[in-house]
Amino acid sequence: MTARVLVVDDILANVKLLEARLQAEYFEVLTANSGQQALDVLARESVDVVLLDVMMPGMDGFEACRRIKANHQTHHIPVVMVTALDQPSDKVLGLESGADDFLTKPVDDIALVTRVKNLARLKMLNDEMMMRASTGREMGIPDDGSYARAVSPRAGRVLLVDDHPRSAARLLEVLKKSNAAVAEFAAQQALERLAEEEFDIVVVSLSLQDSDGLRLCSQIRSVERTRHLPVIMLVEPGDEARLLRGLDMGVNDYLMRPIDRHELLARVKTQIKRKRHSDFLRRRLAESVEMSVTDPLTGLHNRRYMEGHLKTLVGEALRTGRALSILVADIDYFKLVNDNHGHVAGDAVLKEFADRLKRNTRGVDLACRLGGEEFVLIMPDTDLKHAYQVGERLRACVAADDFEIGSEQIRITASVGIGVLENSEDTPETLFQRADNALYLAKRRGRNQVVADAA
Ligand code: GH3
Ligand code: MG
Ligand code: MG
Repeated sequence: MTARVLVVDDILANVKLLEARLQAEYFEVLTANSGQQALDVLARESVDVVLLDVMMPGMDGFEACRRIKANHQTHHIPVVMVTALDQPSDKVLGLESGADDFLTKPVDDIALVTRVKNLARLKMLNDEMMMRASTGREMGIPDDGSYARAVSPRAGRVLLVDDHPRSAARLLEVLKKSNAAVAEFAAQQALERLAEEEFDIVVVSLSLQDSDGLRLCSQIRSVERTRHLPVIMLVEPGDEARLLRGLDMGVNDYLMRPIDRHELLARVKTQIKRKRHSDFLRRRLAESVEMSVTDPLTGLHNRRYMEGHLKTLVGEALRTGRALSILVADIDYFKLVNDNHGHVAGDAVLKEFADRLKRNTRGVDLACRLGGEEFVLIMPDTDLKHAYQVGERLRACVAADDFEIGSEQIRITASVGIGVLENSEDTPETLFQRADNALYLAKRRGRNQVVADAA
């Protein structure tokens, strides 16, 4: 991942130091040596993360942060406060000015890269969402506020895994300030709990007495159900080797003991926010995949899906020498339904027709709406004789009972054409053409009938 980082510090040596470290990790670095200069750079350039020194002459870091967060052009850019004083009061002030994270000087390498990566990722998710929201608007999808609701700040469910009684009690109390938090003392119990309950984040101590915290982290990552669950590690000073292994296996963030409570809350909050972003994106993606293969009116597969699938099925049937039939059904005089009963009734007829089609379908058959009042059924392992029977059953099932639309009874019939795969020269197109020719004949011969052999 590469991101543009703005480093702000009034002391040139500090800027150079951070710049070199970030560049070594392939981040692109911009620099500024005062709060005002930082605001100027942000007005001109696109930046993914700001590292902001707290103590600067003139406008200090807190004030610069407040202004970044108050400007609607820049308020979504994550800000990391870099403070020399390891004072809780600094962190409180930083949080109040809108900072997203903290680093203390001298800045630790692992901390620097972990924080910057985390925040840059969050920012990119955010950018992507904003982009999608605007394309959505162009495509006429209403901005229904579902995204804003999904990521709006609210309490998360936190699972703390720590077996040190005093530490666990204290951390739980802190976490409960803004979340629903519960604690487990051992890795196995934590895993069982994760399998049964929904959590937004897990905070794991790496110094568990009777179980291996790092192993727990790796198990969380490898189980499908928890693969995307944010994990924060609690690490003892001097345990950098395991910390790095954890980060390598995809653990999202960490805190060094002794745990600063502001830092804990800030990190938990950032990770929950990130999770909500990506959950939302994943859900949307699944929905759009679904939408791209189904016809919204009838819930049947759409033409695009059918065409892809038919190609596969023709290839398979030719390879294995098995039969393959295709049925095309077209509602008779459907235009009159619209003309006489209105478009809404017309839509309802299409839905009911689709339901009757489904009723005559086996699990292996593929039912689709081609468009308008034309439907297709693809039947693997089905020869001409059986395909004809299916067509006749569908025709009869449509014609037998009137369609009840609102208070109206509408008489509906359909014509059906059947095509079967005949030789190795056949393609999806020739097969389809055969069924279409048969349908044309069925219409010409008076409608409400099935034609299986157009020749
Ligand atoms: P034929 O027996 O020859 O098939 O006559 P027809 O009237 O069924 O066929 P035609 O192709 O002339 O008309 C089809 C009509 O279907 C025209 C169009 O307005 C209507 N239609 C297409 N899609 C929809 C839809 O999604 N909803 C509704 N209500 N009507 C649709
Ligand atoms: Mg028709
Ligand atoms: Mg038609």
